[in-house]
Amino acid sequence: MSIHIHWFRNDLRLRDNPALCHAATGGKLLPIFIHDPEDTGDMGAASHVWLHHSLQALNRSLNGQLRFFHGPARVILDRLVTETSARRLTWTRCYDPWRQARDSTIKATFKAQGLEVVSRNGSLLREPWEVHSAQGTPYRVFTPFYRRGYREGTAPRRPLPAPAELSFARSDLARGCDLSELGLCPPQAWTNKIMAEWATEEGTDSAGEAVATTRLRDFLAQGLAGYRDGRNHPARAHVSRLSPALHFGELSPHQLWHSAGEEGERQNCTADSDHFRSELGWREFSSHLLYHNPHLQTENLQKAFDRFPWRDDATALDAWQRGQTGIPIVDAGLRELWHTGYMHNRVRMIVGSFLVKNLLIHWHHGEEWFRDTLVDADHANNAASWQWIAGCGADAAPYFRVFNPVTQGEKFDTTGDYTRRYLPELAALPDRWLFKPWAAPESERQKAGLTLGQDYPVPIVDLAQSRHRALAAWESIRSKKD
Ligand code: FAD
Repeated sequence: MSIHIHWFRNDLRLRDNPALCHAATGGKLLPIFIHDPEDTGDMGAASHVWLHHSLQALNRSLNGQLRFFHGPARVILDRLVTETSARRLTWTRCYDPWRQARDSTIKATFKAQGLEVVSRNGSLLREPWEVHSAQGTPYRVFTPFYRRGYREGTAPRRPLPAPAELSFARSDLARGCDLSELGLCPPQAWTNKIMAEWATEEGTDSAGEAVATTRLRDFLAQGLAGYRDGRNHPARAHVSRLSPALHFGELSPHQLWHSAGEEGERQNCTADSDHFRSELGWREFSSHLLYHNPHLQTENLQKAFDRFPWRDDATALDAWQRGQTGIPIVDAGLRELWHTGYMHNRVRMIVGSFLVKNLLIHWHHGEEWFRDTLVDADHANNAASWQWIAGCGADAAPYFRVFNPVTQGEKFDTTGDYTRRYLPELAALPDRWLFKPWAAPESERQKAGLTLGQDYPVPIVDLAQSRHRALAAWESIRSKKD
């Protein structure tokens, strides 16, 4: 029987994997993973560790048959195809523009040699080029994009089962290296601690298809009803925390779309399941934006922002990264990120607004820090969200809307549980002062055992003054806006 190579990339799962299903038909499967630094050069430390754990789980579900390689994908594939006389090569499509360009070259080269090369969509509900306006142009505004592409017309396809049978190529064929030799998970790295945060009660795994499936099941049972409002409150269990699973393809968006829809009907909470689906829509929108704007990560979508007077302030940036700004909800978010590799969406918006507006620091620095520290770091979602926060993106939050981190904390962390969890030094402060310890009477701070500037920083900026400064900076480019 002929050898069929399946090249795992952003699809680290067996179920609902159309390209893998094709590879598993009519041949012996040779599953491979290539760590190609040319391709993943800017992948952050937290993502590397997640990838390591996810690959470990995938290899187990493939009976240890996954082969690992390190080096340029084109060279390795060329060697493997020759060595195994493979007849078919499959993969799940990536939509980052530079990966698309690489994949097209690989596809053309092997097709010219007579190999059957098949790529399938397994990571987006719709191909990024499928959804366009009546005039055939890409969308820059979310609402019509989502309405036309997802709410109207045919539903996204239903998920597929795992291949019924996997018949593997001989195990002595195309031997790769050990997963540990890929160097994704250096010993002693801070990121190893992160994974402990994600370990399940049942087993030791922190990542992979089985853990993600359990997390989805638990979210649907306990978090879906109430999602629409609850998703704004970081201390409540109303978000799925499935973003890394989606990023690495441990689950497909089709699985989430359909299971949320069915559970919404069953639990009579379709407003919640519709809202959850619309968040998947934002994920699609980000990929659509990146696909049509290949420089999304580096260039403002609104060119007026090229003239924005950003400040260079390494000290403030460092305080922000370490969660030492003296603004509690901001520090809680950044410490959550450092300890878990994740940050709740509401808090991502608050810390983002604080960086680009109160501190007036370029969104590139925030994008870069998130890329390094998030386990769900995703080129499309991260860049599109930072541009949204900075006001320079497509359909962005207007720059003049500056989040007030004190009122945001009071409104969305009503019990203070989230902030106290990550800032134990403020735990004894009464709710009234928790989000503004600098404003508390000295006697209240003493009772809570808190000395500002010693146990917790004095704010690095005055919120009202920095807001005015941000608005003035925006006014300076607004008059010349294109
Ligand atoms: P849930 O509420 O359970 O949502 C389910 C899924 O929908 C998520 O897993 C995610 O895939 C998608 N989703 C939800 N909200 C958004 C959104 N606003 N935009 C796009 N997709 C969304 N998300 C990433 O996956 N990777 C990133 O690198 C990333 N960087 C961000 C940077 C900033 C500054 C901001 C404000 C947001 C960023 N997001 C990013 C979007 C969002 O914060 C996360 O997707 C979400 O917090 C993940 O948590 P969850 O899985 O519990 O979400």
